[in-house]
Amino acid sequence: TGAAPVLTLSGVTRRYGGVTALTGIDLVVRGGAILAVVGANGAGKSTLGQILHGTLAPTTGERTVPDLLRSSLVPEGRALFRTLSVRENLEVAGYAAGVKGRELRSRIDDAAGWLPERVRTRLELPAAALSGGEQQLLAVARALIAGPRLLVVDEPALGLAPALVDEVYGRIARLTEDGVTVVVLEQLLTRALTVAHEVVVLHEGAIGATGSPDDPTFAGRAERAYFGSS
Ligand code: ATP
Repeated sequence: TGAAPVLTLSGVTRRYGGVTALTGIDLVVRGGAILAVVGANGAGKSTLGQILHGTLAPTTGERTVPDLLRSSLVPEGRALFRTLSVRENLEVAGYAAGVKGRELRSRIDDAAGWLPERVRTRLELPAAALSGGEQQLLAVARALIAGPRLLVVDEPALGLAPALVDEVYGRIARLTEDGVTVVVLEQLLTRALTVAHEVVVLHEGAIGATGSPDDPTFAGRAERAYFGSS
């Protein structure tokens, strides 16, 4: 709707050898909101997430950003350093992003401030000592160290108990208050409709429906698109 585009994909196709993972993707990501990309296993979510983030090139088509876009990706499975402490996981992200010294300490303070108290008070423990939900939150906090304007989170709910899913999504939603644009890749349509301002349904690598959860006609269209019936 109103907000300016942060990123635009037009005519994006991605192939891996003979496998077509994405085809004909036209997508506008608008600032300050949560966009959910929802689809079944293998629909192409992770591929789309990497293209949005900018670490995977489209085979054909264009990814356009208005100016230098700082983007962070939280990969599926989190990829934390399990034996390093919570704080060291945040520090490593700083080094990778070229942030150091006082600026790094300030960003770690901000990221720690975003984490729940029960994690914030355990910065010196190994990441492996955290629960699954806490590790997911740490993975997001680590991605925040780079100061992203766009944050792509691949399946934040994977493997979490329902109460933790709500907490993880609730904290992710708070990031938009600071102007971060969030794209979540999500397998469950009902969840996507609950957490996002806009939902894109992927089916076999193509967008089958796009809409707002506020639109009462959208849930039905989205469900048909999810299963590939029309
Ligand atoms: P999941 O929820 O299972 O992670 P997904 O929706 O994220 O699935 P992708 O991981 O993007 O889907 O995969 C889309 C298609 O592309 C699948 O058929 C997958 O096997 C294929 N694919 C993905 N990555 C590669 C790769 N590196 N090499 C070959 N094929 C790949």
